[in-house]
Amino acid sequence: MSHLPTTSTARSTHPASALLDEVQVPVAQSAAGTNNAPAVAVRPGYRLVPALVGKSTEPGSILYVECPDWCVVDHVADRNVFIQDISHQGEKATLSLTPTRGEQVPLEVYLSEWPALAEDNGQPRLDVDIDSEVYSYGRTAAMALADQMVAFAEDVRRLAETLPEEAQA
Ligand SMILES: [Zn+2]
Repeated sequence: MSHLPTTSTARSTHPASALLDEVQVPVAQSAAGTNNAPAVAVRPGYRLVPALVGKSTEPGSILYVECPDWCVVDHVADRNVFIQDISHQGEKATLSLTPTRGEQVPLEVYLSEWPALAEDNGQPRLDVDIDSEVYSYGRTAAMALADQMVAFAEDVRRLAETLPEEAQA
């Protein structure tokens, strides 16, 4: 929990004169080599993105965090008070069954990652949001859930296929 990325690990241990000899040494940078993000090593599948942290009553500070490629959160627009509160969230897939009576019960699945949550080991999870109640699955449980849903979908299809053809409009 104490190794959250900071902005200054890769440079500045050498005096300016030594830099001349090192200009040709390749450093970690984006493929385009044009962004202004600090040159620190980022895990494969992640990129450094700016994040705004601080109370809403203060200007806050921008720091760079590792963000998985699938994350769709704008960490500047979606500010957190503390860096430990920053989490990553993927695109949502939604199944929405709307009963004529009662509330709509949406079912959403998306990837999520809470870097500061010790029990997740910094690993992404599959979050399943059933009407705002969120369950978090590791790979094995998520695959079992997927199998269950495929079986359910096959039941739906099997029953649907027994229905009479509808007249074309
Ligand atoms: Zn993110």
